[in-house]
Amino acid sequence: MIATLRGRVTGWAGLLGGLMVVGAAAVTFVLWPAFRRADRALEPFDAIFPVLAERQAAVVSGIDRLARRLDVTTSPIDTTPWRPPTIPSLLATYAGALTPEAAVTLAAVDEDLAGLEAQLGLAYAALESGGRARARAVLQGVRQREAGLALRQRDQMAVALRTGAEARAEVDKALSTATRLALLWLGLVTAAVGLLAWDLRRHVLLPVQALQEGVERLSRGDWSRNVAEVGDIELRRLARHFNGMVEILRRRAGRQAQFATAGELLSGAAHELNNPLQTLQALAELRRGMATGQEAADWEAVYIATTRAARLVHDLGHFARTSRPTALVRNLNAIIRSAMNLVQFQFAADGIEVQLDLSERLPPVLCDDHDLVQALVNLLSNAHAAVRGRPQPRRVTVTSWRADDAACVRIQDTGPGVPVDVRAHIFDPFFTTKDDGAGLGLPSARDIIEGEGGRIVLDDTITGASFTIRLPAAPGLQVDAPPVPPPVVATTGNGRSLEGLRVLVVDDESAVRDVMRRFLEREGARPVLAGGGEEALRWAERQEFDAVLLDLRMPDIEGARVYDRWARERPGLAERTLILSGDLSRLDTSAPVPAHRILTKPIELATLREALLALRSVV
Ligand code: ADP
Repeated sequence: MIATLRGRVTGWAGLLGGLMVVGAAAVTFVLWPAFRRADRALEPFDAIFPVLAERQAAVVSGIDRLARRLDVTTSPIDTTPWRPPTIPSLLATYAGALTPEAAVTLAAVDEDLAGLEAQLGLAYAALESGGRARARAVLQGVRQREAGLALRQRDQMAVALRTGAEARAEVDKALSTATRLALLWLGLVTAAVGLLAWDLRRHVLLPVQALQEGVERLSRGDWSRNVAEVGDIELRRLARHFNGMVEILRRRAGRQAQFATAGELLSGAAHELNNPLQTLQALAELRRGMATGQEAADWEAVYIATTRAARLVHDLGHFARTSRPTALVRNLNAIIRSAMNLVQFQFAADGIEVQLDLSERLPPVLCDDHDLVQALVNLLSNAHAAVRGRPQPRRVTVTSWRADDAACVRIQDTGPGVPVDVRAHIFDPFFTTKDDGAGLGLPSARDIIEGEGGRIVLDDTITGASFTIRLPAAPGLQVDAPPVPPPVVATTGNGRSLEGLRVLVVDDESAVRDVMRRFLEREGARPVLAGGGEEALRWAERQEFDAVLLDLRMPDIEGARVYDRWARERPGLAERTLILSGDLSRLDTSAPVPAHRILTKPIELATLREALLALRSVV
């Protein structure tokens, strides 16, 4: 844009400058010869007139002195002899510059003066030799001739005036031509300035305005129209880039809308899946403890498969979360594993080896795990794209370690690495070297990590690419959950540790209620079943319970509301309540439930048993 402006202004300045030079040259060209000619025509008169005037003055003074000497009454008598002034006649010098008429007139005056000078000399000579009468007579003749000279001088003046008038007319003509030229020139300059304004408006101002309107439209959320690609090359390129950027954002927004919808569907589906998975997993856990031989092995296989499925559903549901971010104390390894769970299928499909080298000595970090999983998935996806389709070894290594007051993770790949000339730009929004890239993976990962008070850097490597993330430790805090996967504690099936425990099981899903009942009865507990929030509230009014297992999502009254009510009216019972849910995104923030009271479905019976035992020790 600056180049466009500079180019146009320079072009126009050149044109205006050229016009000025041409205008000045034209005026000079017209006026100069006229002035020169006038000067030449008048110059001889200028030079010759003073000479003739001086000679005439000398003649007049000679006549005057002679008359005094002849008049005896006048005294004292000046006896200096008369001499004509010795001034060269300039007639020959200017012969070529004079018009014939002027030459004749001036020559006549010159001749007259010469005659007068000669006669006056004779008169003086006669007086010197004592011939006063003769001198007087000659003087008489000189006087008459001098009177004739005046007439000739009138002619001479007339010629000079005519020459002057002609010269002036010529100068006037030149001046009027110059005036016309100047007016024409002014007209041209005005037109050029008008054209300049029109040109700047059309090629600079309007395209810039169009861009500005486009940006304003975008900021109002109207993505429907592109900016017109007009103006000079530079502005057209700017508009094209702008439209390209809008297109990427449009596609991205479309994809995000799809993601958001898919996320909601996924989150709902995860919840729906969690209940059958809970039933299956609990059943398998119960039956494998009771069966023997092949049947026990079969139930063990079902148990392992459902546990894997449950973990994947949990991670997917968590990734697709639609709720607001919340920072909690977490274990970074758990977050890394969640991210790995989400991408490992892609890695396996493309024959990419994944090496996890995670330190168990990591300090807990305070962060929103959903966001952090997203950042790690971005980095892992980039690593996947970098090594996919390349010759072996195709490997991605994820390493975590403790560094003083921080938990660190490095994601390294055996791809081509980041070229030196793009290293400085990879964190810039919309920077991409991929045909189908959006250029938002790294900037959004950096935003998330810096938002958690951490740092992400691209390491200096000779081969492949390597990114290191450093998250500050959460000092003095406990990790809210043990690193996943939680250790599988096998139920013994014989220790009736929950003996006599009165447990209210609240779940709208009858299969879940049923399996819970079987598990609790096997453990010696005394379960009471409720199919919804209202029924739970009624049971709690009727009798005392040592523990409540409360589902979160129920059609009549949500579990969080039931808990909230007990927290206000029956704090003792709220203390003995555990929330069991597969859909934490639905946790109503206006009815907060303490994090340590929440167990995610599907839960292993061994873990549930531990949680109930912990409650029993409180009772
Ligand atoms: P996108 O993946 O859509 O291009 P990103 O912001 O995630 O956007 O990445 C920006 C650019 O950084 C990529 O286009 C690529 O050039 C470079 N990059 C990121 N990760 C890697 C990697 N692991 N290996 C090589 N280049 C990478």
